[in-house]
Amino acid sequence: MVYHGCLSVLTLKYAEVILPLSLANRYTYRIPPDLEPRIFIGSCVIVQFGVKRFYTAIVWAIHTKDESKNTYEIKEIYALLDPIPVLRQLQLRFWEWLSFYYCCRLGDVYNAAVPSGLKLESETAVMYNENFEADSMLRPAEQSVLEAFSGQTKLTISELEKKTGLRNVMPVISSLMALGAVEVCEELKHGFKPKTQTYIRLSIAFHAEEQLSAAFNSLKRAHKQMALLSFFLEEIQMQETQMAQEISKKELLKRSGCSATVLDELLKRGILESYEKEVERLQPMEVVAHVLNCLSEEQQSALRQIQDVFRIKDVCLLHGITSSGKTEIYIHLIDEILQKGKQVLYLLPEIALTTQITKRLSYFFGDRMLVYHSRFSDSERVEIWNRILRGNDPLLVVGVRSSLFLPFGNIGLIIVDEEHDHSYKQQDPAPRYHARNAAIVLAGMHGAKTLLGSATPSIDSYYNALAGKYGLVDLSVRYGEVRVPEILTVDIRELKRKKRMNNALFSPLMIEKIDEALKEGEQAILFQNRRGFAPVLECNNCGWVPHCVNCDVSLTYHKQRHELTCHYCGYRVRVPKSCPTCGEPEAELRSIGFGTEKVEEEIKALFPAARVGRLDFDTAHTRTAFERILSDFEQGNTDILIGTQMVSKGLDFANVSVVGILNADSLMNIPDFRAHERAFQLLVQVSGRSGRRNKRGTVVLQTFSSEHPIIRLAVRSDYKEMARLQLEERKLFRYPPYFRIIEVVLRSRKEDVVHQISFIYADKLRNHLNERILGPVVPPIARIQAWYIRKIILKIEITVAIAPVRTLLDRVSEEMEHLSNFRQVAVHYDVDPV
Ligand code: ADP
Ligand code: ZN
Ligand code: ZN
Repeated sequence: MVYHGCLSVLTLKYAEVILPLSLANRYTYRIPPDLEPRIFIGSCVIVQFGVKRFYTAIVWAIHTKDESKNTYEIKEIYALLDPIPVLRQLQLRFWEWLSFYYCCRLGDVYNAAVPSGLKLESETAVMYNENFEADSMLRPAEQSVLEAFSGQTKLTISELEKKTGLRNVMPVISSLMALGAVEVCEELKHGFKPKTQTYIRLSIAFHAEEQLSAAFNSLKRAHKQMALLSFFLEEIQMQETQMAQEISKKELLKRSGCSATVLDELLKRGILESYEKEVERLQPMEVVAHVLNCLSEEQQSALRQIQDVFRIKDVCLLHGITSSGKTEIYIHLIDEILQKGKQVLYLLPEIALTTQITKRLSYFFGDRMLVYHSRFSDSERVEIWNRILRGNDPLLVVGVRSSLFLPFGNIGLIIVDEEHDHSYKQQDPAPRYHARNAAIVLAGMHGAKTLLGSATPSIDSYYNALAGKYGLVDLSVRYGEVRVPEILTVDIRELKRKKRMNNALFSPLMIEKIDEALKEGEQAILFQNRRGFAPVLECNNCGWVPHCVNCDVSLTYHKQRHELTCHYCGYRVRVPKSCPTCGEPEAELRSIGFGTEKVEEEIKALFPAARVGRLDFDTAHTRTAFERILSDFEQGNTDILIGTQMVSKGLDFANVSVVGILNADSLMNIPDFRAHERAFQLLVQVSGRSGRRNKRGTVVLQTFSSEHPIIRLAVRSDYKEMARLQLEERKLFRYPPYFRIIEVVLRSRKEDVVHQISFIYADKLRNHLNERILGPVVPPIARIQAWYIRKIILKIEITVAIAPVRTLLDRVSEEMEHLSNFRQVAVHYDVDPV
């Protein structure tokens, strides 16, 4: 017996933790015996890392092995942040997969995944408890820490260290914490203050029948108070849960119609009491669950096919043309999964997550739905996080790619809407993950299904469907009477040759169609995938073109702001008064090409009576601005909406009869193997905005290359043929989906260094992977934000597992470390770049 006791004291436990730093490793800390029963995998703990810094770490594993082999000192976990784990084990597995597949560090995934409100940053604040009275003599060090507060209640650990002059103040704080003299500051701990609301309840002294009637007696001459008390008691009785016995002050006053002074009197008498209670910050959605719409025959059949696919496959691709009613099918599926008691994640590209779609979904799912958005405040994110963490109740989460990181307990279905959208891929910083692919993996971990939906699926997903890896369901008719639009191609080259382009931007046909629409009281959308007034400004005399000081690009001319802007780094300057090279006056600077701002100017000149709106990065810089421009158009306050690809994203307008595409060529002349796929997708998506219930829509597509296969396919909306041709080409030139691309991206402030290093790096990789290595290449924009860039491209057969590739990459990177100037180069991998 005695031995047993001793042994259990001796078995120390260790926690392997990950830190919110760009580090690949996990670190081991000793678990203090008193914390042992409360620390689990997924717990948030505070640890010391480096000399003086403290971080919130996440417990990854717990074991009893002392891995230091006494070669270094293992530090102790300093404190436990939350009594319950902040992460579920499944999430940690998901993180592990992300860091493995996307070749990034676990710490990067941690940083991206967890809202900062849940992370304690290095400067832990300690709070002095003013009510503390020592039972026994304090040690000198403890004494001096408490003295350091001298009137202040809150100090950071580093401040305490400085003030006391103690070299290691942590153990002292730790013992003071045990005594109750100090505590880690609650508010900083969560970076998040819970929102509270005043609640009213019956004081405990009046719970008994007798006391309560005495109270009523005492109110005989205070009619209003008596009325309010009666009202309160009735309300309480009507509450479903007998437990609650409370009502918010606001509600009580509102519903009873009493004034606050009447309530104050009752509080003063001590009959009722008020207190602060933490409430959810989330605005509860309207609690209405409307009856679902009946599906059309085609929708019904598509739904059945999806359900059939899910019986044998985990992923289904729904290829449904624009306005075929995909969303309606999603709604039916979501309802089915919620009824099974499971959760649904509905992913949308950032920009498509508008009030339009959330309203439409909340109409059916009401308070069973949560929205998760990148523009939410951190507090809101923490709140959503906790809500999902604390319960496994059926819930629909509508969100952008980062909602994959929420602590779901019970996913039954993930829907990836507009699955072709390349904004699903995170570019910077790491983890550079693709949310569609990650969603499939996450769903797999939950034993759930994934539905990919698009009118123009990505070639990758479509290939997987053709190969039988995914199920494929086609929906090729629009819902209701709406017909697919007629697409008219206008050959600008031809018009210019015949001198029939009277206007620089608009062909006669486009002007005619817009004019017709306006006369009919209908709306038009004009699409130009470039913002600003003109992409280039040039001196008429000497040919000088202003360039960004940080990047290798010309500056875009913004006329209204009278500025030149870099669209890569945000650099801005005023338009010069004269050409800096030859001194010609400003008037001699002419613009080349055109962006949305110029389109707006021209259209206003052509149709002075029309109300014109513009939707691009410049006008829709905030969410409210974005929503306002859209709702103005939706409600008919705007006649013509001009925009970049923002106008193409899954929006549904009832009164648009004309869509104008000003320059389709700019989409195709991009040096990227996906350029044609993208151009097709954009053209078809933009065209899809046209068409009304009772009238066929029109699309006017202006191009210099009307014979280009992609243009011809887009005009026919022939997705299948486009996919067939693209796949042929991809196979021939060893591109995805037949080959997996991994880019090694090297950046340096010094061009010669990055140049030299990239050649050595490529050679080393080539030694192992031979012709699978391309480059180093100089990217089209070779310098961004003063960093010179080189890329080495790996093309690996899709059938090759990623693990050995990863090992090899790690090995080569280690070899590179030996080169002295390698430290001047920042390297990252981009797996499946888009
Ligand atoms: P998609 O998502 O495929 O572009 P939507 O689901 O947005 O298509 O449907 C296009 C339009 O048709 C929407 O206005 C939608 O409300 C309407 N609609 C689609 N299916 C139905 C249905 N079963 N009942 C009523 N309206 C529907
Ligand atoms: Zn000049
Ligand atoms: Zn720049």
